[in-house]
Amino acid sequence: MTAIETDVARPGRFGPYGGSYVPETLVPAVAALREAYTAAQRDPSFWDALHQLHQRYTGRPTALSHAARLSRELGGAQIYLKREDLAHTGAHKINNALGQGLLAQRMGRRRIIAETGAGQHGVATATVCALLGLECVVYMGVDDMARQAPNQFRMRLHAAEDRGVSTGSRTLKDAINEAMRDWVTNPDSYYLLGSALGPHPYPTMVRDFQSVIGHEAREQMLRLVGRLPDLVIACVGGGSNAIGIFHAFLDDHGVALRGVEAGGRGQTLGEHAARFSGGRPGVLQGTYTYVLQDDDGQIGLTHSVSAGLDYAAVGPEHAALHDRGRAQYTAADDAAALAAFQRLARTEGILPALETAHAVAEAIRLAPSMDPAQSILVNLSGRGDKDIFTIADLLGVTLNG
Ligand SMILES: *Cc1c(COP(=O)(O)O)cnc(C)c1O
Repeated sequence: MTAIETDVARPGRFGPYGGSYVPETLVPAVAALREAYTAAQRDPSFWDALHQLHQRYTGRPTALSHAARLSRELGGAQIYLKREDLAHTGAHKINNALGQGLLAQRMGRRRIIAETGAGQHGVATATVCALLGLECVVYMGVDDMARQAPNQFRMRLHAAEDRGVSTGSRTLKDAINEAMRDWVTNPDSYYLLGSALGPHPYPTMVRDFQSVIGHEAREQMLRLVGRLPDLVIACVGGGSNAIGIFHAFLDDHGVALRGVEAGGRGQTLGEHAARFSGGRPGVLQGTYTYVLQDDDGQIGLTHSVSAGLDYAAVGPEHAALHDRGRAQYTAADDAAALAAFQRLARTEGILPALETAHAVAEAIRLAPSMDPAQSILVNLSGRGDKDIFTIADLLGVTLNG
């Protein structure tokens, strides 16, 4: 793996979006991180170490699967799945956690801070800290703890300390606030942010670590299918799995890119997490991007059946891709995600994460109107084992009953 080039003229900016809007108390810590990452980015030995870990620990490259029965049932485009659910810990989150874990080590940091929503990033970070021998503190909204208790327990098994956050909406946004507060108090700690969000260098760095997904998938499509996909689909919470698969295809103008946000259970503010249709540009947690907000600029509440998509802002690079028209963004609602979850389980023997099921829902919606000679590549960002209790609940099934 080689170092990845970024916009050297305006680092951290994606059109007007991105930047670094942080309180003065955080400026030195963010600057130190930026310097350290810039040096690591140019150092082939850093990428070599990450590549080795991916092969020997994460299980990369992850498979590319042809969803043959689902495609046949839909009677249109061939659907291919990039299997990030097969990466260690069950989602793409490990790609970023390992990259930043190595960076923290390189910076000589011994204590890691992280936030988590669905618990996937918390588990990935706790895993990496166990592997590298680093102390780990994970902030998690108490509402998310309730719906993701198994992940909370997994973090403890890896010797991480989980801290419940009971301020605000008691979800991801509040967990990020607490993690940033911890970082202000402990500038020698390393803040391991979980998505392509926050102040520069996070959106660039997280994208670089996740772009392994797209590089592998592009090469696999050419080698195993013989051509590039016509369409690439990924779900968009903060946007890390989506930018990770999109990035390798940005210059392939015949490849359409589509991000799927959480449509939730309605179109009024508070009922969804569709930032592009329901939000407008503003600053949240260090970055300028599309944000769900009311007329006074107060950050809107969000809802999604999937904790990982339940956030009021989208990664700034997606905001730029949206405005440039290079990627399209739609939403799938809770019901469509649930139906897609069940359909993939039935036709392909795969339980997708509820987040991922939003991307699958969009593929199910679009495939029938496409030609069987065409293909759709779906980023299967994670496995759904963590969601089976939620699914049972939604289906009215009592477990252990
Ligand atoms: C966290 C998560 C997401 C959403 O985060 P992004 O940064 O938008 O990728 C999507 N899918 C899975 C499986 C996740 O764990």
